[in-house]
Amino acid sequence: FESLQERLGATFSRLGGKKTLDENNIKEGLREVRLALLEADVNFKVVKRFVDQVKERALGDEVLKGLEPGQHFIKIVNEELIELLGGEQQDLDLKARPLKLMMVGLQGSGKTTSSGKIALFLRKQHGKKPYLVPADVYRPAAIDQLNTLARQLDVPVYPSTTDMNPVDICKDALVKAEELGCDLILFDTAGRLHIDEKLMDELANIKRECQPQEILFVADAMTGQDAVTVAESFNDKLGITGVVLTKMDGDARGGAALSIKTVTGRSVKFVGVGEKLSELELFHPDRIASRILGMGDMMTLIEKAQSEIDEEEAKALAEKMAKAEFDFEDFLGHMRKLKKLGSMEGLLKMIPGMGNIMKQLGDNALPEDEMKRTEAIISSMTLKERRQPELLKNASRKDRIARGSGVKIADVNALIKNFKQMSKVMQSMMGGGDGKKKKGLFG
Ligand code: GDP
Ligand code: MG
Repeated sequence: FESLQERLGATFSRLGGKKTLDENNIKEGLREVRLALLEADVNFKVVKRFVDQVKERALGDEVLKGLEPGQHFIKIVNEELIELLGGEQQDLDLKARPLKLMMVGLQGSGKTTSSGKIALFLRKQHGKKPYLVPADVYRPAAIDQLNTLARQLDVPVYPSTTDMNPVDICKDALVKAEELGCDLILFDTAGRLHIDEKLMDELANIKRECQPQEILFVADAMTGQDAVTVAESFNDKLGITGVVLTKMDGDARGGAALSIKTVTGRSVKFVGVGEKLSELELFHPDRIASRILGMGDMMTLIEKAQSEIDEEEAKALAEKMAKAEFDFEDFLGHMRKLKKLGSMEGLLKMIPGMGNIMKQLGDNALPEDEMKRTEAIISSMTLKERRQPELLKNASRKDRIARGSGVKIADVNALIKNFKQMSKVMQSMMGGGDGKKKKGLFG
């Protein structure tokens, strides 16, 4: 599996320093974009439309100074994608009292979980007082599930039972919410495994009776292609106002976001990134765009290259890594500097050739939420220990560092292990060329 950035790099390298993009030299590039989108499981009709759009924009474009033709082409693709994913996005009407959100979508897409997440999010960010309404009466477990979430969040919930009618539930919930002084009402509706006329009628009735400002279509990011027909029928019947894209913590490329946006004209508003209630994010078109294109942080590099990125520094860092001179002190320094620019992963990916290394590292790569802890641990090391990581074989040193940074010894060990693995991979990938085996940092 190669990223689009790598494939386009190869495609365009033959063009050398061509200064304009024309029908001929973008042909293969367009093909790669097409493949990348199909791999991200974007619907083929959507792909075609998008590729045509990119072509139109790219033709006759002059390659920006300081960029290779391939990079310039990627820039166009990425910008078009962000534009398309974002478009004219409508914010939630937070002034509405009450703000009524209706969650719709197939079974298992994440409606109930997202209801809880959005309740928490809007309470935390905007001081909303949520009221949860279980309107899926077909499965007793569904009512229990929302009740459990409500308890966890300490949010009131409508006392639905399986013998009640979902439309009545929702109507009555409006009254109850007002009595309780709640100003955010979330209708967690039933889903089916497939589109179902009876269910659609029921949802349409809820919409008519309760007039929600938002009908949020909840889509599992893994569904890709299928998302199109499903989104289309929900939209036709109900007129969705936005999308919640769930399970983006998995390895889904996010092609569903593009497909749904194209067929319904509605953007993603929230992204689910885990099972926990706190794991909800606002939608960032740029993040999904690079994910769909499998480009890592190439765009960041390109943008920085255009303006201010210190490429020299990145090169120097890569050389240090290759020579196995990269130690905890370098690590800390760069981590702090790059915290401003983006994630640690972002930093590593910006270094030429590093994308592959990151892939090899896989789970050993540092996720962003570990950065703080990592920084604390390294800060508790003496300068000597940072410069000579092999000193850290000593247990009493590790014990002191753990206590100093308020973590467990196991965390210190994990960091050392990660670091060791990272430098090993870096050495083999970057320093392996000259045949001379260098002594690693850990002897
Ligand atoms: P519903 O049938 O549409 O109400 O779907 P649920 O809310 O019950 O979610 C179905 C499953 O997906 C549950 O196991 C959830 O924990 C899980 N889930 C929902 N959103 C996410 C997410 O963003 N990430 C992950 N990993 N799991 C999710
Ligand atoms: Mg549910």
